[in-house]
Amino acid sequence: MKVIKAKTAGFCFGVKRAVDTVYEQVNKKGAGEKIYTYGPIIHNEEVIKDMEAKGVRVLRSEEELEGLCGGTVIIRSHGVEKKIYDKLEEKKLKIVDATCPFVKKIHNIVQKESAAGKRIVIIGNPDHPEVQGIRGWAGECACVIEDREDALKFSVEENEKICIVSQTTFNYNKFKDLVEIISEKSYDVSVLNTICNATKERQTEAQSIAETVDAMIVIGDKHSSNTQKLFEICHRACNNTYYIQTLDDLDLNQLGSVETVGITAGASTPNNIIEEVQNNVRIIF
Ligand code: SF4
Repeated sequence: MKVIKAKTAGFCFGVKRAVDTVYEQVNKKGAGEKIYTYGPIIHNEEVIKDMEAKGVRVLRSEEELEGLCGGTVIIRSHGVEKKIYDKLEEKKLKIVDATCPFVKKIHNIVQKESAAGKRIVIIGNPDHPEVQGIRGWAGECACVIEDREDALKFSVEENEKICIVSQTTFNYNKFKDLVEIISEKSYDVSVLNTICNATKERQTEAQSIAETVDAMIVIGDKHSSNTQKLFEICHRACNNTYYIQTLDDLDLNQLGSVETVGITAGASTPNNIIEEVQNNVRIIF
């Protein structure tokens, strides 16, 4: 019996940096000092609960931000719109920016390209905070394309220049397909593949493991978009794929009489949760 754990399972660089930033701020805060994160710092309920227990409050809306008078606000790895930085400055709150540098790079690109007169097209999920953040740096006319239908419908004036970027966690093959549909429309298009390597490597490794095992376990928060995509990829390669948040969600009997089990996890899954699953699956087999 074999258990194969993906080398790329767990926190990516940007998430680790953001989580470490919160704990650093918690450790050095003075008495009575308030620490907030603008939105959950990562998509993982277990980590958020731990931070809340240490006194970190999650701001869930601009209105909540509006009500603050003093304190430190940590910006999460997904990044935020420019207007949020403006609001924080206006309210003289201390900003600790944990935006992943790869996401910050997209903010800089779209800000520069839209200032140069290009229409920004973001390939991604319009409801995802990272995409909303990017959109907030991309000028008035920016739009988001999520699927084939959006790409087929996309139309602008003939002489408009277009700059396409991607949500960092978007599926690479889907990105290529959507870019191809837009490029066929003969606009002046420049394409910047801003998908993060961490995501691509995680997806590629997960797929190759899923193709060879009898059962696959994908660990991550139900709201984590990169974990959802990881699950889709694994499920396509291995019908017997399970999406769990923690060990409690896994019915070990369900795995049945399999000979090999693969384990991977989304970018916001802490190591202790992965290890717990791995150790228990090993015990069973
Ligand atoms: S997946 Fe990539 S872009 Fe997103 S937080 Fe992690 S390192 Fe940054």
